[in-house]
Amino acid sequence: MAAATSLRLYPPNSNPLIFFSRKMVQFRGNSFFSTLRSSSSRFPTSVHPNPIRKPKPKSNGAVSVHPNPKPKPSGIVSVRPIPNGNLEPSGLVSIASSIPPPPPLPGVEGVMMEYICGQRRATLVAHSVWKHIVREGDTVIDATCGNGHDTLALLKMIADDTRKGRVYAMDVQKVALENTSLLLDHSVNPDEKELVELFSMCHTQMGDVVPDGVKVRLVAFNLGYLPGGDKKMITRSDTTLLAIEAAQKILMPGGLISIVAYVGHLGGREEFEKIEAFTSKLPFESWNCCKLQMLNRPLAPVLVFLFKR
Ligand code: SAH
Repeated sequence: MAAATSLRLYPPNSNPLIFFSRKMVQFRGNSFFSTLRSSSSRFPTSVHPNPIRKPKPKSNGAVSVHPNPKPKPSGIVSVRPIPNGNLEPSGLVSIASSIPPPPPLPGVEGVMMEYICGQRRATLVAHSVWKHIVREGDTVIDATCGNGHDTLALLKMIADDTRKGRVYAMDVQKVALENTSLLLDHSVNPDEKELVELFSMCHTQMGDVVPDGVKVRLVAFNLGYLPGGDKKMITRSDTTLLAIEAAQKILMPGGLISIVAYVGHLGGREEFEKIEAFTSKLPFESWNCCKLQMLNRPLAPVLVFLFKR
């Protein structure tokens, strides 16, 4: 049995036939996760019973990379190049070597090295950056909760014994909110899950869910379509820009707006270009805006970070 969700309808009196039911989300058995796993090309992941209480070892299944590997003796190391596809490659690069790899570098430094070497997905680079911004007890927002991987990552960062932290997570699709709720049910205990509130709403309204006087440390956007879902249900540039403006208003100084933009689907590049044009004009006295982009993989996702000074 799944734990009760903190799902809120938005607006509060909205028709439950249109919006997601207030009722508890029932666990649909293992088939859900096997479907999620097999259908999610952007987030090939395994679900662990409780990663907060039993954190995984640092390597997290990723191949560790030496920042300055010695020349490869031929026949010992085999490298499979990343396909030049539009979304995150599921396999990334595999390196088989008879020489044990050196221990990975800690923190964002190691993740950046792996990204540069083609062994880390953009979303995981974003998570690693968040860890340097978000503190326990913070209020954060997942503006596009989808299958819940970002919500879960954020929850791990804000949860502590004070139970003051909150993750406000939202999506316009009922199936996305269900997936997020189920992922949380199977990844954290009910007490931890209570720190997440799920909202069936458009992210342009995100300011309405944050209590008065509370400032937000981080707002995460993972744009495009729901992995494994309806590819026609995508984020759109006009609402995305309004949502970024809404995020700017509720963010505290020292906070971050993090955007993963996908340019491989119809409308995705236009959405990214509008974000790029908008954020390029933000005053540098109050915003530090940067992007991280693969130059020779034109369809790879682009990371955009907006740091509020
Ligand atoms: N962060 C998710 C992936 C997000 S995919 C994960 O970790 O799995 C993009 C999501 O944005 C989809 O689920 C889609 O339904 C949602 N979305 C699209 N338009 C939206 C809007 N206007 N407001 C909120 N969510 C939206």
